[in-house]
Amino acid sequence: MIDQDAADAIRTMPKIELHRHLEGSLRLETLLAIALEYQITMPRFDIDGLRPFVQMMPGETRSMTHFLSKFAVLRMFYRSEKIIKRVTAEVVADAAHDNVRYMELRFTPQALNNLIQCTFDQIVGWVCEAAAQAAAENQIQVGLIISMNRHESLEIGEHVLDAAIRYANYGVVGLDLAGREADHKAEPFRSLFARARESGLGVTIHAGEWSGADSVREAVCNLGAARIGHGVRAAEDPELCDLLAERGTVLEVCPTSNYHSGVVSGYDAHPLTTLIQRGVRTTINTDDPLISNITLSDELINVMSFMSLSLAEIKRQQLIAAESAFLKPEARAKLVSQFQAWMNPI
Ligand SMILES: [Zn+2]
Repeated sequence: MIDQDAADAIRTMPKIELHRHLEGSLRLETLLAIALEYQITMPRFDIDGLRPFVQMMPGETRSMTHFLSKFAVLRMFYRSEKIIKRVTAEVVADAAHDNVRYMELRFTPQALNNLIQCTFDQIVGWVCEAAAQAAAENQIQVGLIISMNRHESLEIGEHVLDAAIRYANYGVVGLDLAGREADHKAEPFRSLFARARESGLGVTIHAGEWSGADSVREAVCNLGAARIGHGVRAAEDPELCDLLAERGTVLEVCPTSNYHSGVVSGYDAHPLTTLIQRGVRTTINTDDPLISNITLSDELINVMSFMSLSLAEIKRQQLIAAESAFLKPEARAKLVSQFQAWMNPI
């Protein structure tokens, strides 16, 4: 473990995160309040009774299916406009409390409107409004990324993209493809992601997490992803690493999530340092703070403690994140110079 002074330095340092899911970042206290208000069936109405249903516990099975089962439980909690605005505001406030100064927060409209009779436009509008207000109140800048799932229909994807484009001037900065990668290729979504790029949205795709290097290649070469969610299995293919390094493709690496979902057997087996050594541009992210019970500070401390990254490397990863933000060039340049000042000296 790193010493207390180094850990404190990480916690107080201004930070940036590019890969965090709204649906995986809720507060346990809020979930309990919603469960009580809506009488959602639970074995026990207290935090410790709720925790194992929505958070990874020590000794639990670490697999994709088990990890995703937590999201299935969370889908029962999105009951109203008020709840969606409340959880959005809290997720933004929690990031700011951890001294995150710029965050790209992604959410899946199809997950949020399961139990509410409303359109994707309404969902996206509510999240945009709540995120903008919470960002202004908490000294944090927030960009929103809209996610669609590979295992859901193209028709849903089209409607989700329409909503994303409509809200591009109200906080939406990018489009993401998530979902069950092992059984569903990205290719069917090619034209949607081309349209997203033509509309000025940034493109990031979950790949190389539960499927191998070919999935990353498909996302980069066929769907034009500038960033890859996870992408860690690219390390299995040196030629792909060269391609990613050459193109400057950025990996949004989430080590604890990879451990919890069974992608790697432990921090010591994680390929982050291999990817860095091969010249691939990487960033460090939480993915799902609630499910993994971590903050971004925790995650940076973990990679320093268990993967031997230096403070200088952590700062370099933060600068890569600033350089890869889905912002217009002028706004991105401003963000980069702000983080250069904060990260100085490296
Ligand atoms: Zn993710």
